[in-house]
Formats: sequence, structure tokens, C-alpha cells
Amino acid sequence: MINRLDLRGAALRDLDARTLRNTLPRAELDVEAALDIVRPICEQVHAGGAEAVLDLDEKFDGVRPASLRVPAEVIAAALEQLDPALRAALTESIRRARIVHEAQRRTEIVTEVVPGGTVTERHLPVERVGLYVPGGQAVYPSSVVMNVVPAQIAGVGSLAVASPPQRSNTGDFTGFPDPTILAACALLGVDEVYAVGGAQAVAMFAYGALDAAGETVCEPVNLVTGPGNVYVAAAKRLLLGTIGIDAEAGPTEIAILADETADPQLVAADLISQAEHDELAASVLVTDSETLAAKVEQALEERVASTKHVERVRTALAGPQSGIVLVDGVDEGVRVVDAYAAEHLEIQTRDAAAVAARIRNAGAIFVGDYAPVSLGDYAAGSNHVLPTGGCACHSGGLSVQSFLRGIHVIDYSREALADIADTVVTLSTAEDLPAHGAAVTARFEDRS
Ligand code: NAD
Repeated sequence: MINRLDLRGAALRDLDARTLRNTLPRAELDVEAALDIVRPICEQVHAGGAEAVLDLDEKFDGVRPASLRVPAEVIAAALEQLDPALRAALTESIRRARIVHEAQRRTEIVTEVVPGGTVTERHLPVERVGLYVPGGQAVYPSSVVMNVVPAQIAGVGSLAVASPPQRSNTGDFTGFPDPTILAACALLGVDEVYAVGGAQAVAMFAYGALDAAGETVCEPVNLVTGPGNVYVAAAKRLLLGTIGIDAEAGPTEIAILADETADPQLVAADLISQAEHDELAASVLVTDSETLAAKVEQALEERVASTKHVERVRTALAGPQSGIVLVDGVDEGVRVVDAYAAEHLEIQTRDAAAVAARIRNAGAIFVGDYAPVSLGDYAAGSNHVLPTGGCACHSGGLSVQSFLRGIHVIDYSREALADIADTVVTLSTAEDLPAHGAAVTARFEDRS
């Protein structure tokens, strides 16, 4: 059911970090390969506007919504009809996310570099953002929370959500995003929601969309954030520049670093929990215990059979992106998970907190037996929009900072500029850009 990769003995020692990374399990359909698929989709949206988006809804999601923008009364109805237990759960998830993200607020930093010379760093929100909420194989009201909470705390003025139209919706909700997604938007006060998924949603946000009469249906945004499948991640990469993006948050990944003290049933349950997202989801166990590996294989056999999305889970676990990696010890395990840079990393070892403190590359780290990834997916307070595909070695998860731009404000007095003028002239001369120096010295010329 799940592949094994044996990196014990000399195998691991002989690999440099890059080769090690390339040796570890990865999906065959990666973001780079998906670029060729999403390019024509994005071009179609650019050229055809709202009608093209609706055509693509029909093509990829099997339903043409009555309108691209979800009417306000449909969003209100979704909240009215929301199951009370789910409403309570979403409310608690929002409350905890707000606690964590409130603590991320940035304050203005004024630095007096020299007397009379200050540099102030202001943090200003991006004006308009498009938030992607997945809804292909599963629907994700939790991703509404994870996108909207930090954007609102950052002070973003204009927020729009896009999520795939659902073919199975009935009544008022026919062809619109899942009602739980609409209800989560209503709970958070978001009223601009579009029935569109995949690459076409990212393209609609990037280019905006006019209807056949030339009326604006969706204004373009400055930044697109949110998780999605490989097509969403590829469209974000393709359109970067036209829009800003958060990190690429594609098909989910869980890596578990475990030793012989780990409970194989918990390890198996957690590997399955992420495999349930997507056939391309990656579940990777890194362990120095042959005994644990065998018990986890056994536990997977038992548990997968009784899980709901059994085919999806089986495909994800058997895929080249998943596997059990055997190493000589926890130190080697740390090296492997650092090279892998997982979106989610669980540490299920002796002294788990101490091992977690040594990790350099991961989207989020879950410590010990009582912090499963599912807790972070829904209600830890942390953000679940996290970098995948190794991007955790250069990017972090979604946060208030993702929606802010730092702007330096430079304010120098005449005296402070006079003090540094020679330095600027020297540097500008060295770069053969003498007009730069002249712009400083001009301020001190006697023009009387
Ligand atoms: P999705 O909304 O991301 O994608 C559905 C859309 O994909 C459809 O609307 C369709 O337009 C498009 N699509 C489907 N097949 C296509 C094809 N062959 N060609 C072009 N476009 C196609 O929903 P999903 O598929 O359920 O995927 C959600 C993903 O989000 C999962 O992989 C999950 O692991 C991931 N996720 C990631 C994070 C993170 O932070 N990294 C968080 C939550 C979810």
C-alpha cells in the first residue's frame, strides 16, 4: 500500500541536501507540469471575461451557475440554514484563529538612524484581495476562516472569495459554492463571493471580469491567497507579477518523524487524515524503527479499509509522493525532514519538543501525541494555509503579514544629509552613476 525508501547506512550520508531532497517521495504531477494545463485556461479568462469563466465552470465542475457572483440572499440563506453544531464549531475556529492572528499585528517602527535622520517602517494592507477556498474533491469552510481572519485583521478593505460551483447543490444553492462555505463567509461578514474554482478563479481575480455587455462583474485584485489543488497552485505561479500571491499552497503533505516510542495507530491515523484530501496528497513517515514501520504498514491496512474516502486514500498512499523512509537515527531523520520541507510535520519521538526545536524547514510543526495535523486544520488557532512542494524552505504560512506591505518613509534634515553626503558621492562614483551623487551635492550648492 505504501512504498519504502531505505536510507540507512551509507545511503544517506553520501547525499548532499539537494540530492537528498530529490531522492525523497514527490508527486509526479507537480506544479511545473501543471503550468501547461493552466496557461490556456488563464488566457481564455483574460480574453473572454465572465462568459469564459462560466464556460470553464461548466467544463470543469459540470454546472453553469445562474450568476458568477453569488447573490446576497443566497449567502444569507446559507447562514440561516446552517446546522447549529457546525455554526458553533466554525465560531470557535474563528475565535481561536483571531486570538493567534491578532497577536501578529504590526506596529509602525520609527528608527532614528542619526540625529535628524529617521527611517519609519509603516505596514499598510493590500487594498483588494482574492481569497481562494477549495471545493473540488472536498469542500473547505475552514479555508474561509484561514483566509479571511488574517486579511481582516491586517485591515484589507476589499475582500472577495472564490470557490467552485457545486453540481450537487439543490434549491437556492444550485450551481453555487457549497452552502457551508457561503455560511462561513456570512459569519465573517464577507458578501463578495464568486462561483468559480481552479485556475479560472485565480485568472478572474488577476484580470477581473466583464460581462457580455461590458459591465464589471469582478474587479481585479492585487493579491490572491489560499490553498488549492495543483491547478490552483500552478495558476498562482503563472500569474505572479500580475498579482501578488502567498506561498504556493497545493496538494497537502504530512511528514511524520517518529521513533520506536510512537504509537503506530496514531501515526497511521494521521497519515490517512491527510491522504484523504487528494489523490496527489503526500503522506510520508520518516523513522529509525523497522518495528514501527512494520506496525504502521499493518495499521494502515486495517484503517484504510474502513475510512470513507477509501479509493482516494489508497491512491494517495500508494503514489510516488508517499512513503516510509527508513533512517539510522533521529538525527538523520531531522536531516531528511529538513530536506523535505513538509507543509505539515509531526514529531512523534522521545523528547518531541526538543526535536521540534531543531527543525528548520516546515510549514507548521505539530509536537507530540496530542497535536495532530487535524487540530491545526480546524481549530488550533494556527493557520492551515501552508507552503507545499518544498516551498517551506523559503516561505511561511498565511498570516497577517501576508496581507501587509512594509513601506519605508525616509526623513533627513539638511544637517543629517550634509553629514552623509560624501558617503553617497563615493558610492555613486564607484557605481559609475555620478548623477546620483550630484543630486545630493546640488542641495548644498550656492545658487545665489
Ligand atoms: P480545488 O478547489 O483546489 O480544485 C477544484 C478545481 O480544480 C475545479 O473547480 C476545477 O476547475 C479544477 N480542476 C479539476 N480538474 C482539473 C483538470 N483536469 N484540469 C484543470 N483544472 C481542473 O479543490 P480540490 O481538488 O478538492 O483540491 C483542494 C486541494 O487543496 C487539496 O489538494 C488539498 O490538499 C489542498 N489544500 C491545501 C492546503 C494548504 O495549505 N496547502 C490547505 C487546504 C487544502
